[in-house]
Amino acid sequence: MKQNVTSLNTTEIKKLNTDDMEDNHESFSMETPLREDAFELDDEIKIELIEKHFKEIMLILGLDLNDDSLSGTPNRVAKMYVTEMFKGLNPDSAPSVKLFDNKYNYKNMLIEKNISFHSVCEHHFVPIIGRAHVAYIPNDKVVGLSKLNRIVRYFAQRPQVQERMTIQIVNMLRETLHTNDVAVIIEADHMCVAMRGVQDVTSSTITSDFSGKFLDTKTREELMKLISLEIK
Ligand SMILES: [Zn+2]
Repeated sequence: MKQNVTSLNTTEIKKLNTDDMEDNHESFSMETPLREDAFELDDEIKIELIEKHFKEIMLILGLDLNDDSLSGTPNRVAKMYVTEMFKGLNPDSAPSVKLFDNKYNYKNMLIEKNISFHSVCEHHFVPIIGRAHVAYIPNDKVVGLSKLNRIVRYFAQRPQVQERMTIQIVNMLRETLHTNDVAVIIEADHMCVAMRGVQDVTSSTITSDFSGKFLDTKTREELMKLISLEIK
C-alpha cells in the first residue's frame, strides 16, 4: 500500500503547551488521544521514521553513532516502540476474548491479583511499573483467566496515565464480560517521580475504579480483604 510519509512531518504535529503538562496526571477523556490518521502508516514505515528521528535526538545529544555500541540503537528503539512498548495503541492488538458458559453457576467475585505490567508515562516517556488487581462477578458467562492479564497488558502497552488506564480496563471488562460488576485496582511506581523531579523512590500510586455491585461497601470490603490475603 502506498503510504503518505509526509503526513508525519513533525512540524505538522500539533504543539501542546508542555509547561501546562508538567506533572499533571489528570486525564479528561477515557480514550487515549490519537490522531485521526494514527494508522495510515504501516508498522514498517513507522519503524523507519522513528529510527530516523531517534537518530537525530541521539546526534543532538552529542552521541557518536559510529560507535558500534550505539549504531544499532535508533533501529532497536524504533522497533521496540512500535512492536512492543506501544503495540497497544493499535486496536488490532486488542486481545480476542472468548467467553465460556458459567457451568458451575459461580456467582461470587473472581479476582485475578498481582497482574504485573509495564507501561510508559505519556508525560515523560519513562516507565510505569505496576501491578493490577482485577475482579468481576460473573453473569451467565466466564472468561479464561489469562485474558484478564492480556487486557491489562493491552492498555499498558501505550503511553499512559494511570487513572485513565484503570478506567479503560474497567470499561473493556464491562463490555466483554457483559457485567457491570467489575473492579480494578492498580498500584504502580512511576519512574518520572523516581528518576527526575522530586526523585522519590519510595512512593507509589494507587488508583481504583469500581462499578456495579463493587460500589456496595460490603462487596468492596470483601474484595480488599481477599486481595490483601496471603495464601502461600
Ligand atoms: Zn510522568
